[in-house]
Amino acid sequence: MKASIICVGTELVTGKTIETNSYFLAEELRQYGIYTHQKLIVEDQLEQMVPLMDFALKTSDFILVTGGLGPTLDDLTREAVSQLTGLALEMNEDIKDRIIKLVSTHLKGCPVNNYKQALIPKDSKILQNDWGTAPGFITAYNNKQIIVLPGPPREMKPMFLQHVVPIIKELSSLVFLKKNIEIFGIGESALEESLGELMTSQTNPTLATYASFGSVSLVITAEGTSEEECIRILTPVVQQVKEKVGEYIISEDGEKLENIVQKLLSNNEMTLSVAESCTGGQLSARLTALSGISSVFERGYITYSNQSKIQALGVLEETIQLYGAVSEETAMAMIKGLKEESNCHCCLSITGIAGPNGGTDSKPVGLVYIGVNVLDDYKVYQFNFNGNRDRIQNLAVLSALNLLRKSLLIIK
Ligand code: AMP
Ligand code: MG
Repeated sequence: MKASIICVGTELVTGKTIETNSYFLAEELRQYGIYTHQKLIVEDQLEQMVPLMDFALKTSDFILVTGGLGPTLDDLTREAVSQLTGLALEMNEDIKDRIIKLVSTHLKGCPVNNYKQALIPKDSKILQNDWGTAPGFITAYNNKQIIVLPGPPREMKPMFLQHVVPIIKELSSLVFLKKNIEIFGIGESALEESLGELMTSQTNPTLATYASFGSVSLVITAEGTSEEECIRILTPVVQQVKEKVGEYIISEDGEKLENIVQKLLSNNEMTLSVAESCTGGQLSARLTALSGISSVFERGYITYSNQSKIQALGVLEETIQLYGAVSEETAMAMIKGLKEESNCHCCLSITGIAGPNGGTDSKPVGLVYIGVNVLDDYKVYQFNFNGNRDRIQNLAVLSALNLLRKSLLIIK
């Protein structure tokens, strides 16, 4: 089954607003076995919109249109559907009342312009919008469907999930099941190489990798006529993936490193404190982005200067002088000092050279030491990361989380 997505809005064509709706919609449709064979972005002009909709509908099984449902004069999607289908726009009194109520709560009265949003092509199915004023609608034409949703992504996405997913599930007889395996510690191309034939020869399930700054998501998608069939197709392939790259798998349900660490700490009733040098608080920031982290995350220090490492963490001046701020010894002194200060069950320290300046032959850019303490175990790990400053800092943060994850997995 083939769909076209049409995004309406002059601001999308000129590049003033980045068009994101079609990205979400195509990915969603794919999961239900519907192939998006074209995406069209069109300005707010009837003479462009109507022939484009006509063309898209003729070449697809159905079309999804977003945008152009606002209250202003330049929003013309309703008019375009009406012109294409020959179905007159009718004022829906229920929707009009709802708009008046909604708009009047934050404006004095309701501008007449807003009534326009209650105009719907005759005989269309109305899709209620619980996230904004403009309803969506589905208009049938030549035995095909024109599905229209508002443009703002925060309205479009929930409306798609609420109203459109049930309809496309009926249109498509196939069931899709996805497994999202999160991988850390091996790059995307090395992963693909390790998976070898599994990666290249599979058509059902399909395997796809998505890399983002050091971690890789491996998405395995099976299609079948029932969920049971999909599970039968997925299971042996997941098993083979585990045999080949099991040591790098951090989760089998898309869960990210920081969430896993949070859970492990919480399940073990343990607390964590961190001391960061070259990551400048990014580890703390990543942890504190998680809701509920306060029950396990106790404190984070940014000890960027030598002086701060000495004052806040009690690192000895001689240690820094003798071995340098970026050294195994300093990373160890940082977790030991942090333990003294915070008395947490777990402590992490990061010290390294994020670059692009500051590297030497013996201590090049990308050299990072990470100290990991869990209960009475203290270890320091050395890394040599490649890449720019952003990437090195990000890899340091993820590696610290991964080392803690591994340590927490083996405690009894
Ligand atoms: P509209 O329904 O045309 O009034 O859309 C209102 C706003 O939603 C626009 O000004 C954009 O900021 C946003 N918007 C519309 N379509 C898209 C799209 N395809 N991708 C991202 N944002 C969009
Ligand atoms: Mg618009």
